[in-house]
Amino acid sequence: MTPDELKALVRSVPDFPKPGILFRDITTLIGHGAGFAASVALLADRAAAAGAQAIAGMEARGFIFGAAAAARLSIPFIPVRKPGKLPVPVLAIDYALEYGTDTLEVDPGAITAGENIVIIDDLIATGGTALAAAQLLRQAGAQVGHALFVIDLPDLGGADKLRDQDIAVSAIMD
Ligand code: 5GP
Repeated sequence: MTPDELKALVRSVPDFPKPGILFRDITTLIGHGAGFAASVALLADRAAAAGAQAIAGMEARGFIFGAAAAARLSIPFIPVRKPGKLPVPVLAIDYALEYGTDTLEVDPGAITAGENIVIIDDLIATGGTALAAAQLLRQAGAQVGHALFVIDLPDLGGADKLRDQDIAVSAIMD
């Protein structure tokens, strides 16, 4: 399937989670077997081209695409989790949201020093989530030079923020 065909499978929902936001909902994309498979294949191909030794995905929708791409490549999947979910001592990072802050956590034991970890998430908007994940993985000793997304919202400038931190960004669609 082409990127345009995949884009047609993503549902746009107005006023979610609050008025004025047009939410890009991937439920309809992963609910289409061929569309889900093609999206994962594209992400896995790009991760392999980037030399991925492991893939990290952000909770929750990054798990869907990241874990599937990692399994396709037979490489480890590292869950970057919301706070309080992991049963072991964690490395954590706080990052700014439009209102307030959020936190991401990772099990440092899941990361091998120096390994090339490619980040996968469903969507990049402001880039805050992906940048925090990259910083967390780098703190844990990984090399992070590539981040892959199903959807980039380029008007929000997130990809540029990642590029400023030497992270190449690639998305299937905008
Ligand atoms: P950012 O941190 O780049 O501003 O926001 C990206 C994060 O928020 C991602 O983890 C993504 O899952 C979620 N997100 C923000 N807006 C949307 C949207 O319109 N659709 C989806 N599917 N996720 C979104």
